Amino acid sequence: MSQQVRVRFAPSPTGYLHVGGARTALFNWLYARKTGGTFVLRIEDTDVERSTQESVDGLLRDMKWLGMTWDEGPEVGGPHGPYYQSQRLEIYQKYARRLLDNGAAYPCFCKEEELEAKRQKAEEEHRSLHYDGTCRSLAKEEVERRIAAGETYVVRVRVPEKDYVLEDLVRGRVEWKSETLGDFIVLRSSGMPVYNFCVVVDDADMEITHVVRAEEHLTNTHRQLILYEALGIKPPIFAHASLILGEDKSKLSKRHGATAVGQYAEDGFLREAMINFLALLGWNDGTDREIYNVAELTECFSLERISKSPGVFDHNKLIWMNGQHLRALTVDQLLPLVLPFLKKAMPDDARLDNPEVLRKLVELIQIKMNTLLDAVPVAESILRASQPEDEESIALVSTEKSKVLFAALAKEFTTCEWVKDGYNAAIKAAGKTAEAKGKDLFMAIRARITGSCHGPELVGILDVLGREEVIKRLNS
Ligand code: GLU
Repeated sequence: MSQQVRVRFAPSPTGYLHVGGARTALFNWLYARKTGGTFVLRIEDTDVERSTQESVDGLLRDMKWLGMTWDEGPEVGGPHGPYYQSQRLEIYQKYARRLLDNGAAYPCFCKEEELEAKRQKAEEEHRSLHYDGTCRSLAKEEVERRIAAGETYVVRVRVPEKDYVLEDLVRGRVEWKSETLGDFIVLRSSGMPVYNFCVVVDDADMEITHVVRAEEHLTNTHRQLILYEALGIKPPIFAHASLILGEDKSKLSKRHGATAVGQYAEDGFLREAMINFLALLGWNDGTDREIYNVAELTECFSLERISKSPGVFDHNKLIWMNGQHLRALTVDQLLPLVLPFLKKAMPDDARLDNPEVLRKLVELIQIKMNTLLDAVPVAESILRASQPEDEESIALVSTEKSKVLFAALAKEFTTCEWVKDGYNAAIKAAGKTAEAKGKDLFMAIRARITGSCHGPELVGILDVLGREEVIKRLNS
C-alpha cells in the first residue's frame, strides 16, 4: 500500500498572507484534497522578534476566506501537535540530543569572539570561512568535563565530506558540492534551534511526505538533506515551485499592486476566482484551459505539472477571471456576497433591507460587474437620485419637448400596470403626447430618472425604484 500523502503549509507569521504564500498553500491543499491526504498548517514563529499574533490571526482568516481548510494545525489540533514552532522547543532539543548521542553532531565550545577572529583571519588569507572544526574531535572526557564545569556550547552537525543530490519534482536534479558548507549550528547556546533544524524536525516528526514550497527555499534544502541523513530519516519528496513575477518580469512586489490576499477579499474578488488564478500561476493541466472551479482544479491538479518557469501575475487577467466566475453565479449565490459591499457604501438605504428590491437590483447589475466592489457605483447611480451633470444628459432633459414628456409620463405611470408591458405602453403614450422618439424619448427619460443617459436597462431600473420614486424623479 502506498503511503498516505501528508503535506504542509508553514508560514512565518511576520506579515500578511502574500499571494505567493497563498499559492504555495494552494498547491499543497490541492494535492492533499486530490489524493485524499492530509493538509497540515504549521506556524513557524521561532523568530520571536518578528512574529506577531496579529499576523497569525490574519493568516488564519485569509486561509479560511480562500476555503483552504486544514486537517491538522491551529484551532483544529491533531496528533502531531503542537503546530506552533514556538511551542515545540522540547521536541527540537530531543532531536538535538539524538544527534549528539549518535555522533552526528557535537557540542562546540568556541566563543563567538574567537570564531569572529578566526573568520577575519581566514578572510585575510583567502581561506574558507567555514567553521574550522576545533571542537569536532574533542575527547569524550574533555567534553564531559567542560559541560560539568558549566561551559556553554552550541550543537554543531558534523557535515560529511560528500556531494548531495536532490531529485526535485519541479526543478529536476539539483547538486551541492561537498566543500560549500562547514559544520553548522543546529542548537544555539541558549537552547534555541536554528531555522533549518526546526523545519526538518517538524517535517520528520509530522510525517510529511511531500514538501511543496517556493524556489527561494531551494538553497535551504542542502542543509536539510544533511540533517535528514544525520537523523537517519528518509527525506520527503521535494517540489520547489518557481517565483511569481510582476508583469515587468521582476519579482512580484507591492509596486505591482496588492500582494496581500486580504486586500483582494476587500477589493471584491471572489474566493473561487482567486483560487483559479493562483493555481494557474505556475501550474497548468497541459491544455490552454483557464477557467476552473475548485472541484475541477482538485481533479486536474498534479505536482508533476508545476511549471519550471515563473508565473506572471497579470492583474487584468485576474479581473477578467473574476468577472467570469462572478457572472456564472446565480443571483441567489451572488446576493449575500455583494450585500456587504452595498451596505458599507449605503448604510442608511432601507431598500437594501428589502429582499425583493435587492434581488432585482443584483439581477440588473450583475452583467456590469467584474468585482463585487463594481456593484457599488452602479447601484449608487440607480438608488441615489441625482441631477444630470454631463453635457449630453443636461441637453436631453432641458428641452421644452422633454418637459412635456416627463409630465405626460408621470401621469401615465400613475395608472399603468407596474410591469414591463405597462412601462412600455406608458412610455409609448407619453412619447406620442410629447412628439418625442428615439434618443429624445428613451435617453431623456433615463437621464431624468438616473441623472445619466447611460447605465443598466431602463426596465430594470424602474423595477428597482418602484412607481412612487420614479414619478417623484420625473416631477423633480
Ligand atoms: N516558514 C517558511 C516561510 O514562510 C517556509 C518554510 C518551508 O516551507 O520549508 O517562507
